Amino acid sequence: MSTVPSVGKKREAFSFQVYKKDEVKRRLEELFHGKCAYCESYYAGQAPVDVEHYRPKGSIDGVDDHDGYWWLGMEWTNLLPSCIDCNRRRKQKTPSKVGDVAVLHKEMLTGKKDCFPVAGGRATIEASSLSTEQPLLLDPTRDNPDEHLHYWIEDGQGTGLILPKASAGQGWELADPEEDPDLVAAQAAALGLSVRGAVSIQVYGLNRLRMVQERTQLLHRLRFFEYLIIQIGSVVQDLSKAHLEGIGEVRDAVTSLTSLQSRILDEMTALASPTAPFSAFAVAYLREFKRRLL
Ligand SMILES: [Zn+2]
Repeated sequence: MSTVPSVGKKREAFSFQVYKKDEVKRRLEELFHGKCAYCESYYAGQAPVDVEHYRPKGSIDGVDDHDGYWWLGMEWTNLLPSCIDCNRRRKQKTPSKVGDVAVLHKEMLTGKKDCFPVAGGRATIEASSLSTEQPLLLDPTRDNPDEHLHYWIEDGQGTGLILPKASAGQGWELADPEEDPDLVAAQAAALGLSVRGAVSIQVYGLNRLRMVQERTQLLHRLRFFEYLIIQIGSVVQDLSKAHLEGIGEVRDAVTSLTSLQSRILDEMTALASPTAPFSAFAVAYLREFKRRLL
């Protein structure tokens, strides 16, 4: 790692290309299992990875009097692997929980690029107070998304939408979300929702149409597996009530059904392993499933 040059030296002294080295990409890919650090989709095979700076290295969107966090340009802890949709700013279709067609087809400008909103003061090289700076964007390596994001999976009617979490634990949708992160923050605060959750959803574009579709597919799969496990369980229960243990074929059938049940459970667990895309979503589902079983 390079050392931070003195204040007098301009940031041009840095070779910003260094972070693109293949070795850095390879390490990031290992650490994040080939998934985008923000949206958890597999980027490998779809598009080249962007090595993303959590704190932008060159300039900050909407902030003219700050040169960006140039001294963190090659700082390992500031680098994250990102898919191009999370990292590049562009219009994306963002469906909504509200079934209104106009809202369903609404296009929002999302993608992080140089966006890095903070609450209060911003760190500079002269006053390098990163520890006291309050970023409004979640850092996948330091923050627990569970405290800020809610997956809408309850009541058997949810979809793959991610909502900002309310203090009560559920999540609520912003009725008419803004594109400007500061306005999103104000909307979320007024509703008692996680401000960092709401801003991260908007800026990273976590409810881009393709993301929502893929998470909804995952949700359907998990629900189908749950249905199978419950149905097999009830057949096993019926057989045991019939007191047919004396019949070898019935005993064998119960053994087969029970092992089938645990194979399906293994499949559900695999969807929640860190290497699987959208595993945080599957983990949240399994947590609810266990609650239902109690
Ligand atoms: Zn992404």
